Amino acid sequence: MSNILEAPPTPEKEHHATEAGNYFVSNYPPFSFWKPEFVPALERVLQQPAPKDIPLGVYFHIPFCRKRCHFCYFKVYTDKNASEIRAYINAGMKEMAKFAASPYLNGRKAHFVYFGGGTPSYLSVPQLQELTDRMKDYIPWDEAEEVAFEAEPGTLNEKKLEAIREIGVTRLSLGVEHFDDHILESNGRAHRSGEVDRAYRFARSLGFEHINIDLIAGMMNDTDEKWKDAVAKAVQLGPDAVTIYQMEVPYNTGIYQQMKAEGKVTAPVADWETKRAWVSYAFDEFVKAGYTVTSAYTVVKDPNRVKFVYRDSLWEGADLLSCGVASFGHLGGVHYQNQADVGPYMQAVDADKFAIYRAYEATHDDRFVREFILKLKLGSVHPSYFVNKFGEDPLKRFGPQLDYMAKEGFGHVTGDKIELTRDGLLQVDKLLHEFFLPQHRQYARYT
Ligand code: SF4
Repeated sequence: MSNILEAPPTPEKEHHATEAGNYFVSNYPPFSFWKPEFVPALERVLQQPAPKDIPLGVYFHIPFCRKRCHFCYFKVYTDKNASEIRAYINAGMKEMAKFAASPYLNGRKAHFVYFGGGTPSYLSVPQLQELTDRMKDYIPWDEAEEVAFEAEPGTLNEKKLEAIREIGVTRLSLGVEHFDDHILESNGRAHRSGEVDRAYRFARSLGFEHINIDLIAGMMNDTDEKWKDAVAKAVQLGPDAVTIYQMEVPYNTGIYQQMKAEGKVTAPVADWETKRAWVSYAFDEFVKAGYTVTSAYTVVKDPNRVKFVYRDSLWEGADLLSCGVASFGHLGGVHYQNQADVGPYMQAVDADKFAIYRAYEATHDDRFVREFILKLKLGSVHPSYFVNKFGEDPLKRFGPQLDYMAKEGFGHVTGDKIELTRDGLLQVDKLLHEFFLPQHRQYARYT
């Protein structure tokens, strides 16, 4: 699920060892600007009439996992029993019912649906069925263009995959991360490569429209040889899309705790240049196999058919009704995040209240910058699109930043196109900080 990085390593360090901290940008402005005192702005939105022209997405967060991965920075629970999980689902559905009854959401249908975590596939078949039946009652999905579901391969068996297909999932996202069992084990992953193979083949036979696999470049103990082997296995599997992340080591991970205990500054993972080289190698191998690089993290087999409705809609400012602990939503121009711990979250819902912890009401400028930087992750943007939508020309607004990018070989402007080079694309998250508004620009090189 989305996160924003509040403490990136300095660019100088970033060219070498991986240190604790992160800089991946999944939203804007950064979370540190979202505040509890802005929550009333969301409550005001909910009292407004439903808009006619804003697509609505629905997100439900499932914070349970079989094991905590050493690189995980989410709040996850690995010790909850069936009755606690049922109580959590009940709370989530009570929350969704309260939102759905508001004037702003009442009667609207979902354009896209997303189950994230944690591990949504940790739920049992009856839990999944009950959850989704109830969700559909509150916000119908019958017209949804995409229903996406994150799954951990080791939690999937044939019955569960059939149930996931049955509830209407169109995009199954498998958290594979790597194919080497020693790497999976030493990084704390619960699954092994044999489970990936079995789950993938059965999912394929069930006819999911879009199967995506996630890989991570730079897990502990990875090597050139093992990474090449993992890429070859992923190519051989032939998923519709592959998402590749570069390993970061945020402060709330097990890896960082270990570093701290040992007094180490450098994380025991590959340096940034190696991680970028590994992603670049993967891109080249997938391109040879007929895939297209469609963003800094994705390759897609058939870009005309395979879409990322959730990502693209959100980046363009869609509404997102987000329920569940720690989840991030966006309604009527107001970003919000729920309580991050299950205790306060359940207490709020039990007391018939929203469980929102903090919010941020985006200005016109915030929205312009947000969409511009998020879309830059796709590798190219058209300034005229932003002129039409926001009345702002990125070429004028970001002249110095674009000059800097060109000078460093990260990108160039040709006519109505700002395009990143491969080198720029591989470190896009670092570059994005350069485009932040001055009040949000804590880590930019160009100021
Ligand atoms: S499966 Fe994902 S959410 Fe769960 S512990 Fe691992 S990284 Fe965290």
